[in-house]
Amino acid sequence: MKEFMVSNPPDFKVSAKCCKYAKKDMSKHIEKAGGYDVKCMGIRRAEGGIRAAKYTNCFSTGKGIDQFRPIWWFRDSDKEEYCARYGVTHSRCYTEYGLVRTGCVGCPFNKNILNELETIRKFEHKLYTAAHNLFGPSYDYTRRYLTYREKKKAEARSTAG
Ligand code: SF4
Repeated sequence: MKEFMVSNPPDFKVSAKCCKYAKKDMSKHIEKAGGYDVKCMGIRRAEGGIRAAKYTNCFSTGKGIDQFRPIWWFRDSDKEEYCARYGVTHSRCYTEYGLVRTGCVGCPFNKNILNELETIRKFEHKLYTAAHNLFGPSYDYTRRYLTYREKKKAEARSTAG
């Protein structure tokens, strides 16, 4: 990716400042305001990924307020049992659209963004248009990068073979 970016510098701005200002800084601001001993976070060990890899159990203490992760030990089977028992209704994103994870719609940092865009195009056309109005150049850039990556892989295979 670095090689691609160096030879094809993006001609649009790239940053994750929306994450910083809309999520992380807001959370820190509330914590700093004080009056809290513990914050609860909905992270499960079984979900895997970067979020879960940051922790090893359901509780941590630190310089700031403590963190409690009440569903940390929930397995997928526990989750299913809970949902069945309490009649939890899931978003159509999961039940109809086939998404396995959701976050900000159309986030260009999503490593599966092109697949997600196809899903949005099919089920939420207005959202699809909105995401393109906002992030269109980055989607084109991702497509170009993936084409480049495939080409490089093919070249490596032909050199090796
Ligand atoms: S769009 Fe992406 S980078 Fe921005 S706040 Fe959402 S997840 Fe973070």
